[in-house]
Amino acid sequence: MSARSGGGQPKEAAVNRAAAPRPHFAVRGIYGGVPTTLLQSGKTLADYGINAVWIGTGALTRASVELLREQKAQVYAEFNTMHHSPFLKDDPDAAPVGSDGRVCPPPDGWQGICPTHPAYRKERMDAFRAVLADFDVDGIWLDYHHSHASWEQAEPNLPDTCFCARCLARFQEETETRLPDEPVRASARLLGPLRAQWTAWRCALFTDWVRELRQIRDAVRPAALLGTFHCPWTDTERGGALAHKLAIDLRAQKAHVDVFSIMPYHARFGHANDVKWIARQTAWLGRFLDITGREPGPAAARGAKRIWPIVQIADWGETVPLAQVGPVLEAGTRLPATGVTIFNWGSLAAQADKVEALGAFYRAIANVR
Ligand SMILES: [Zn+2]
Repeated sequence: MSARSGGGQPKEAAVNRAAAPRPHFAVRGIYGGVPTTLLQSGKTLADYGINAVWIGTGALTRASVELLREQKAQVYAEFNTMHHSPFLKDDPDAAPVGSDGRVCPPPDGWQGICPTHPAYRKERMDAFRAVLADFDVDGIWLDYHHSHASWEQAEPNLPDTCFCARCLARFQEETETRLPDEPVRASARLLGPLRAQWTAWRCALFTDWVRELRQIRDAVRPAALLGTFHCPWTDTERGGALAHKLAIDLRAQKAHVDVFSIMPYHARFGHANDVKWIARQTAWLGRFLDITGREPGPAAARGAKRIWPIVQIADWGETVPLAQVGPVLEAGTRLPATGVTIFNWGSLAAQADKVEALGAFYRAIANVR
């Protein structure tokens, strides 16, 4: 996959000439683990203007945190909240149930979990607490904090869930609504006349997870930022699927989250030739959440909300050509964004020309030539 891109173009062509210094820009990151190959070649992260690295919690070690600290990089953990599928091995009753009353198969293999399963919630909260207790991270980012769905592609696959007996009982109790006993008739009511209440209840449930995660962060490692990687659709796109299907209420989550990392993967999501889409989605998010990027800087900013997009420069689904690296980063670093990271180091590591283009852009906005 990596061999297809980047061939033959002069490196300088990939450097966006519009990359002006961005003194307000706090974070120039990479996502996907320690860039070992780069460090082993004798380079430093500073050589590439990189000052932050996101690592999946499964790959996080004290040695990697130490190594990144020596490189003067911020270290952010990524934490899987609602798609931790190994849990189902011993607790199959945590599998989401579809509108037909049966277990809903994982769309395109993306396995979500029922959001009201008490043991699952406890397991995730305990795991979250352990990551923060064990590792000296600068922040922790929620990932997959949405319902059972496969949305990371140009045409998403969004089944309606979860209509398990537990979810239906809780909905009825908490909204004082009576549903038919028969699950198919109950789901028809919830997706029909009761759709607004059902969506609001599900969104509140997913937000309540964020509230509890935030509480744990506050107790265990209060200096760490709480971020979230989230779907880049606006509130009205795809019939309001952000709320109706994915159960994401960004405005409500804003009470608990410090940093919103919108995921405008332009190539993967059907906008391969329209990098400005990245800036449009990010600008929408700023308006929607009332975040301008002009809020006080990090030193004074406990409580300030931020937008740090994660943009796609690796090939996934579609190739991202070398010449697009600069424009993608330029679009991803406009206000209201005050930080950025890239998807993803694992694929990018083998694409030396793109890594050089990334470094050139990051150095330029950091005003290091
Ligand atoms: Zn359920």
